[in-house]
Amino acid sequence: MKRMLVAVLAALSLLVTGCQSSTESGATKTTRKQLLLVPAEAVNQQSAQAYRQTLVKAQRARRLDTTSPDAKRVLAIAQRLANQVSVFRPDATSWKWEVNTIKSDEVNAFCMPGGKIAVFTGIIQKLNLTDDELAAVIGHEISHALREHSREKVSQQLLQQGAITLVGIATGSQIQQGMAALISQYLFALPYSRTMETESDIMGLELMARAGFNPEAAPNVWRKMAKLQKGAPPQFLSTHPSDQTRIANLEKALPTVKPLYEAAIQNRG
Ligand SMILES: [Zn+2]
Repeated sequence: MKRMLVAVLAALSLLVTGCQSSTESGATKTTRKQLLLVPAEAVNQQSAQAYRQTLVKAQRARRLDTTSPDAKRVLAIAQRLANQVSVFRPDATSWKWEVNTIKSDEVNAFCMPGGKIAVFTGIIQKLNLTDDELAAVIGHEISHALREHSREKVSQQLLQQGAITLVGIATGSQIQQGMAALISQYLFALPYSRTMETESDIMGLELMARAGFNPEAAPNVWRKMAKLQKGAPPQFLSTHPSDQTRIANLEKALPTVKPLYEAAIQNRG
């Protein structure tokens, strides 16, 4: 009985400490209390492992692109964006950021928790992305990582499974193993919510503006995406639904981030 009580208390303390915002709000005031039950380290560890597997697979298929002009653009743009993350969370400056370009027709890009970025050449080529547009895509993906949306998705899923599972996670005898299994089960399987998408759109917009990329390019990416969707829907859209609201929200935030962009290009000289 006493053990049970300890278990419940542990679960409750997890719940209490679990409600926080993963980031500072920035100029665009992107903030919200989030349910973050599972430890960040566990999520980041699983992500690093999955990222490594993706790279090994790409390398074996000779699809890891380190030399093309597109790969160089991806790296340079991602670096400029990553240099701005301290506005939202200072700790992210010490993340082990990685940026890779994968040769593939897939219209896709992602940033796994902890700053593991991958861009598929398909999204650059099929959407004919300019540097500013590519910055919008990568900035959006980086924002999912800064906001810890994956950790939040997994936490929400575990909570839905009920307190018993939660108690099991908090105090079970094979805590780490069980946690790792649960995290990997849901980490990449669940889509982001509409709220998460909006947050990443707006935070990404601020990031790109601060890095000196023209934020007006961001709504354009979604217009291009919508056009492309008329054929076969690209993979990117299965996790990032495109719609008019999204474009309208981005345009509404433009006046807030424009001065940041102007200041940034002035500084770059
Ligand atoms: Zn997204």
